[in-house]
Amino acid sequence: MHCPFCRHNDTKVLDSRVAEDGSSIRRRRCCQACEQRFTTLELMQLTVVKRSGATEAFEVSEDDLARLGQQVEDALRGSGQAEFPAHEVGMAILAPLRELDDVAFLRFASVYKQYESADDFEIEIESLRKHRAEQLADLLDGESHDLTSAPSG
Ligand SMILES: [Zn+2]
Repeated sequence: MHCPFCRHNDTKVLDSRVAEDGSSIRRRRCCQACEQRFTTLELMQLTVVKRSGATEAFEVSEDDLARLGQQVEDALRGSGQAEFPAHEVGMAILAPLRELDDVAFLRFASVYKQYESADDFEIEIESLRKHRAEQLADLLDGESHDLTSAPSG
């Protein structure tokens, strides 16, 4: 993102605001060179880049999105506050999004948690894997064990 005034490449984010529907982020930026302030609007591009390099639109059904919106609203209402900082909205989106799609979750998480290095992603992926393993364990617990053919003992 370069400065629209002097085209300097280094800009500092002063403030981030998530749109109500969670599909975009408005950022107030300050140019490090000329110190002019400007606003950028970043749209969430739910696109998955496959290992082959091909890109594919992230497919979430209307129902999934409606449910996600409802979960976020419930989570925020449940907190009893009348107003929420953008950061909290982002965090509220993360939990239900994690159930929907790993890649989309990581993309959102990298924005809201302001990842700075590959290590941050690695830690998040690790916790995501742990969460998935727990989910799987729950699933197997609750269902018949006919699906698992591993010998016991
Ligand atoms: Zn500038």
